[in-house]
Amino acid sequence: MPLSDRILNLSESQTIAMSKKSREMREQGLDVISLSLGEPDFTTPEFIKEAAKKGIDENYTYYPPISGYKDVREAISHKFKRDNNLNYSPEQIVLSTGAKQSIANVVLCTINPGDEVLLPAPYWVSYFEIVKLAGGIPIIIPTQIENDFKITQSEIEKHSTAKTKMMIFSTPCNPSGSVYTESEMQALAMEIQKNSNLLVISDEIYELINFQGKHFSLASLPSVYDQVITINGVSKGFSMTGWRCGYMGAPLWLAKACDKMQGQFTSATSSITQRAVKAAVEANPKEVAYMKDAFLKRRDLVLHELNKIEGLKTNLPQGAFYIFPDVSHFFGKKYKEKTIENANDLCLYLLEEAHVALVPGDAFGSPKCLRISYAAAEDILLKATQRIANAIKKLN
Ligand code: PMP
Ligand code: GLU
Repeated sequence: MPLSDRILNLSESQTIAMSKKSREMREQGLDVISLSLGEPDFTTPEFIKEAAKKGIDENYTYYPPISGYKDVREAISHKFKRDNNLNYSPEQIVLSTGAKQSIANVVLCTINPGDEVLLPAPYWVSYFEIVKLAGGIPIIIPTQIENDFKITQSEIEKHSTAKTKMMIFSTPCNPSGSVYTESEMQALAMEIQKNSNLLVISDEIYELINFQGKHFSLASLPSVYDQVITINGVSKGFSMTGWRCGYMGAPLWLAKACDKMQGQFTSATSSITQRAVKAAVEANPKEVAYMKDAFLKRRDLVLHELNKIEGLKTNLPQGAFYIFPDVSHFFGKKYKEKTIENANDLCLYLLEEAHVALVPGDAFGSPKCLRISYAAAEDILLKATQRIANAIKKLN
């Protein structure tokens, strides 16, 4: 095969692979419930759609500047200040085709082959592969469900070496739903500032889906501002996954590098999308709080059902729309002649027996767990959790 080593060494995204598999099963006529892809089921709010329609009528149809229209970057700069106490000038902001691309831009612009990148686990699937693509070495920092899957200051130190260049984490976290509090962030910042060569990607794409109160941005702490890259976007909080826009606030030198990278790779994100994004970030976040409220109800419903299953361990996710239970209690159990050896086997069993698609924790660096996305209607969630419970009851 004339494929490069680069692509041959890249793993397929497990979240996307599982949703593809469930779509195929559905096409065969099977009644599969997919709780595998992290995607809000709401439609994009009307005021955002209207802004896009207006953009078309106003002929926003030419190549935009690579980093995004100035007025959109100004609107994001204002949003960062208004909501997150972050000071990023429009020149420090780069729009891309999604938070995924923003992360890839930053990693490709900073990581040299052999550089080590700390990934507190569970981490979001694509961090690992993007780091590998840049030739970096992912260093996993394991966490415990008992500690709400969070790392502490000393764990950063324990896993750091002379080659450590970066750390990437998300808060609210995909897949654990954990949210770092202000005091926990301050403790992490104490460690980060000790190593001025360490860069930190703070992925805050689930900012608006936070059940514990106010979102706290790491870069709002002046001691680490120059080391932190804040990633955000519209996919989750505004239910705009298909529009493809993410953005970052970063030190100016890095924003310029990402602009150069994007200029050779993808150019700016869609002109029409950018008009919609301006309306989204200018709006009062209260306009979209109904989605967060619905997610909270769904979280409680799913947790209530899951907690009836003996042996399954959960934490209390404070944000995003995922539950990441520890299912190791079921390893070694059997169904007919088949033994469930790991979370992968359990996921396959649940797909085949219960027709519910989930994602195994290996994809997120936590092999004892699996991920349930509860971004679906309550009746679907109820049906899915009952199917899971019934299938698990059949194991012995
Ligand atoms: N970061 C995290 C933690 C995510 O869950 C996602 C969802 N795909 C992304 C980044 C990428 O989002 P998008 O590219 O749709 O902006
Ligand atoms: N972020 C979502 C997830 O974790 C979407 C899928 C993806 O972009 O990988 O499921």
